[in-house]
Amino acid sequence: MNGSSYDLAEREDGFQYDLHMKCDCGAVSSLTQSAYVEGESRARMPCATCGEEIHYGPAVAAIRDEDDAALGSSDLNSFAWYHTSTQPDWPSQKYAEQFAEDVRWTDRPFGPTRESFIASQTSKALHVGTYEAAIENMLRRMDDQDDGASQFYLYRVALRLDSNLLNPGFRDENHEVASDISVHELDEGDLSAVRYLNVREAVGTLSLAIRPRSVAAVQRIAIPLPDLSADIDASAIAAALEETKTVVLERADSVARLGLNLREVNAMALGLRSDRGGVAKKHKAIERRYYAQWRELEEALADRCLPNVGALVRRNFIDAIMQRRTDDVDAFVTQYRSYAALLAHSDLVRARLVTTPWRVVTSGA
Ligand SMILES: [Zn+2]
Repeated sequence: MNGSSYDLAEREDGFQYDLHMKCDCGAVSSLTQSAYVEGESRARMPCATCGEEIHYGPAVAAIRDEDDAALGSSDLNSFAWYHTSTQPDWPSQKYAEQFAEDVRWTDRPFGPTRESFIASQTSKALHVGTYEAAIENMLRRMDDQDDGASQFYLYRVALRLDSNLLNPGFRDENHEVASDISVHELDEGDLSAVRYLNVREAVGTLSLAIRPRSVAAVQRIAIPLPDLSADIDASAIAAALEETKTVVLERADSVARLGLNLREVNAMALGLRSDRGGVAKKHKAIERRYYAQWRELEEALADRCLPNVGALVRRNFIDAIMQRRTDDVDAFVTQYRSYAALLAHSDLVRARLVTTPWRVVTSGA
């Protein structure tokens, strides 16, 4: 550490944003996150300009702000960029080495060759975006990518890009999957970074695909912060909490009673065996109550903990946090509130992050 510091400009979009969708006529119409979620099964909206129907979704998502500060000639190095990772030393100099070591003895298909697999996996560009994009990316990973129980780190990133070597405008993730951009591609295009439009998280914002060596320095905190929780009025959720504890016990009793017969009960519930005594029927009713009650608790918590979060982000949050559910209901609520604080109290989280020391990244990569 050489005491470096970087004076970076913050941008703040929050989690309560509207979504912008493109019509075939070229115009852009906006819809709220609630409307997006409520109408999702059909996913149709009228174009505000021509009245034709737009089939909305990631495929037609448009930039949220035509005057986005990350567009045009602004100096991208002057902004604070964010990233979430399960790696405690991102961007790790040893990543390629470690990755090769990890798969060295793995007996699995690698595509053409083991070497090409390693090369393709370790030459991927790094991605940085807004605070909100980084948090939403973590939620997606918690839900989708086997990282339900992983420790995540939030990084604040200072860049050293060559501002003359950027793609004009932005790449549209609708057409080209930006997450697959490789360092090789940046080299070929003689680009320092590729600006691209996010269509799946922090929809409509711009992120950057960069080379590891474009990271000048990072600040880091482990998230969530153990001493920061979303506010909650305990009495407001007391009933839901008690009811959840009751159904958790009820289900545990039922499972214990059935013991080794549980598999048989599942076969009965599927109609593969006859359920003469109604045992399976009874157990499944308990299970239904159990899951419905958990859902109710999670929604009750979201009402209190996520007041400034749009319906789409809120749903993604619940899907992600469900992966960490255990039958210790109080522990789950504590965990829920600390993750929720990353969204509800982003100002406090950032304030904590900016006081951590910078780790300068040497440009070896
Ligand atoms: Zn139109």
